[in-house]
Amino acid sequence: MAIKPLSKYSFGLGDRFAHQAKAQLKAIILAKKAGLHITPVWNKSYREHRIIGSSPEETRQKADEAVQALGWQSDYFVDADHIGLKTVDFFLNSSDFFTLDVADFIGQKADAGVIRSFVRANGKFIGELSIPGLQEPLQIKPETIEQVADDYLLAVREAGKIYRHILQNKGERPFAVEVSFDETEKPQSPVEILFILSALSAEGIPVQTIAPKFSGRFNKGIDYVGDLHRFRNEFEQDLAVIRFAVRTFNLPDNLKLSVHSGSDKFSLYPIICKALQKFDAGLHLKTAGTTWLEELIGLAEAGGEGLQIAKEIYYASLRRFDELCAPYATVIDIDRSELPDPQEVKNWDGQKFAETLRHDEANPNYNPHFRQLLHVGYKVAAEMGHRFTDALQRFEPVIGEQVTQNIFDRHIRPLFLEE
Ligand SMILES: [Zn+2]
Repeated sequence: MAIKPLSKYSFGLGDRFAHQAKAQLKAIILAKKAGLHITPVWNKSYREHRIIGSSPEETRQKADEAVQALGWQSDYFVDADHIGLKTVDFFLNSSDFFTLDVADFIGQKADAGVIRSFVRANGKFIGELSIPGLQEPLQIKPETIEQVADDYLLAVREAGKIYRHILQNKGERPFAVEVSFDETEKPQSPVEILFILSALSAEGIPVQTIAPKFSGRFNKGIDYVGDLHRFRNEFEQDLAVIRFAVRTFNLPDNLKLSVHSGSDKFSLYPIICKALQKFDAGLHLKTAGTTWLEELIGLAEAGGEGLQIAKEIYYASLRRFDELCAPYATVIDIDRSELPDPQEVKNWDGQKFAETLRHDEANPNYNPHFRQLLHVGYKVAAEMGHRFTDALQRFEPVIGEQVTQNIFDRHIRPLFLEE
């Protein structure tokens, strides 16, 4: 089987306008200099490509160029993020990492016979199930397994279809597989994850990362909203369950959690960092839009035409609120009444714009509603075409520095490098 192994720590980097791969890789190299090996994974979803009008070939080319230019000697990947059977073909040539998104199939029932045999195969877990690392044994009833089968079995079988389609087409070229369940309404409990992993194993998918939906809100570009104590318990239970599942279901032994919408979850990073150390576990953290927001901050700070572009993107995003927010409904929470009036924004200088956008809770100007709207407003920038990308080029030194520092200082360091 053609598996491309993913190392213990990996970081998903999004580069919407294909201008920051080098600045992003610099952050990974800073980590390397600090003694930490992280595998960079450039991810872009079908949704992003479609909205921007870009192609996976371009993502591949920019990743290859950055790796060449900076002399990166280790592995790196290009992730076909959130794909399904309808969209996977677009990525087959250029990607070596595939995130199979089967969230749309959650809650749809598989055939009764399929459910019955799954329940039978997992019958040995009924009763008290002790898992090393869990404080209390899990209580597994027949209904527990049935419920997971009802909700997730069809989704897992869909993941199997996508996986086999990729396998057939990639031939000997190795690739990594992630399965994502994050873009749905209901979080998955550790027990559900256990039986989902059982089903993934039965389906023969060599899954290396799994992206569940955690409880609490993982909104795009802003901090976690939820109960930190509860998150810690859930995250640690997930780690224990995964470790158990790897051995029990004969899954790849580097299988790890993937945290989607992972950028800017500053209140979670110390919790995640401790849990990874406690369980000696790996992690894939996926970010996508955070680099685009750093571009916007850089443009605003540059002033003049840069600031003008940033403001125009905001005005248009406000006018097209519903259209821009719709594809991201499950991962944003924007209170429209908290969004600044364009008449007011007109008078802002670059610093005010940057401070309103930059995720710094200590700054009274910071506005998470403004930030989330601009997070999904990249379509407006894409429509500006060269006017936007020329500005990125012109202000590249300022922007590149923002991008590198944001990834290294605010993400990698608290996640992986704190004691
Ligand atoms: Zn996701």
